[in-house]
Amino acid sequence: MEDTYKHKGLRKQLVAEIKRKGIKDEKVINAIGKIPRHFFFEKIFDIHAYEDKAFPIEAGQTISQPYTVAFQTELLDIQPGDKILEIGTGSGYQASVLMELGADVYTIEYQKKLYQKVIRFLPTLGYQPHMYHGDGSRGLLRFAPYDGIIVTAGAPTVPEDLVEQLKPGGRLVIPVGDDKKQSMQLIKKISADKIEKEAYNHFCFVPLRGQHGWSK
Ligand code: SAM
Repeated sequence: MEDTYKHKGLRKQLVAEIKRKGIKDEKVINAIGKIPRHFFFEKIFDIHAYEDKAFPIEAGQTISQPYTVAFQTELLDIQPGDKILEIGTGSGYQASVLMELGADVYTIEYQKKLYQKVIRFLPTLGYQPHMYHGDGSRGLLRFAPYDGIIVTAGAPTVPEDLVEQLKPGGRLVIPVGDDKKQSMQLIKKISADKIEKEAYNHFCFVPLRGQHGWSK
């Protein structure tokens, strides 16, 4: 895997594009600018890595659009050392962005094939999140509570289990809607029994599976 001048140039253009689309957090922008997204693609498709688009990966899933990755990460408002749970490891790109921001990342993937691939691949880039295979729609109770939870697949509703696994002051970022489009919801857990909700633009994700998803 090589990060050529051409790749670096395309990455700069991508960073300019996500800024133009409204991403402001410098730490998020720097992470997108640093991580070679084409390393997450098959070599023959690497030309597509710096388009601001989602792209198919194995098991019928996708690597999220860079703008979406940046948008969700910005909403999480990560501080170094924060314990973050990601539901939907996919290619491992979003987990790498979270690690670049200094988060202690727990990530869970439903598709065994993707989990097996990413657990071998990410350490070769120097990223060592805690990786699990299973149904993340119920969260990952073993290591809760979390400062932040990010869901990278579209959910029918906000799973109560995820809100419960947040620390007071924690944030859940989750796309909620039908199979065509979802609104990005930010749920702030103010205290054990008080939450605040904000909803943002519409996005289009692959469906969340599992107990609190669309199908088992
Ligand atoms: N974050 C990923 C990345 O950076 O490549 C994007 C992942 S893709 C848009 C969504 C992922 O969520 C898929 O890999 C899918 O298999 C996974 N997924 C769906 N339902 C899940 C569940 N209940 N638990 C864990 N992962 C799930």
